[in-house]
Amino acid sequence: MKSAKRTVVEVDGITISLIEWSVFPPDVVAMTFPTFILIHPNCVEDIYLLEHEFEHVRQWRCYGPILFTFRYLFEYLRGRLTGKSHQSAYLNISFEKAARVAAQAAVDRDS
Ligand SMILES: [Zn+2]
Repeated sequence: MKSAKRTVVEVDGITISLIEWSVFPPDVVAMTFPTFILIHPNCVEDIYLLEHEFEHVRQWRCYGPILFTFRYLFEYLRGRLTGKSHQSAYLNISFEKAARVAAQAAVDRDS
């Protein structure tokens, strides 16, 4: 089996691995964990997506894994329980909103 391509990157002094990965749930192209990011090989050049995931790295570090995970899931479930669709509940998670803002700001700054 071919091993996953791994690149080491630094986000605000936090060293993490960027791992090219192809197995995701539908409509997902990247997932961020405390020490690594899984990203679809077709998306490794997507600066907006990378900046979005880098913001999640900062969030993991700021809140810690337990609080980050609990709050993320809580906000998602609260959205679902109040009648939002999966997509709407996901988009309304505060961490996701902040990651979109940070990604857009980074793209605007660098262009
Ligand atoms: Zn996100």
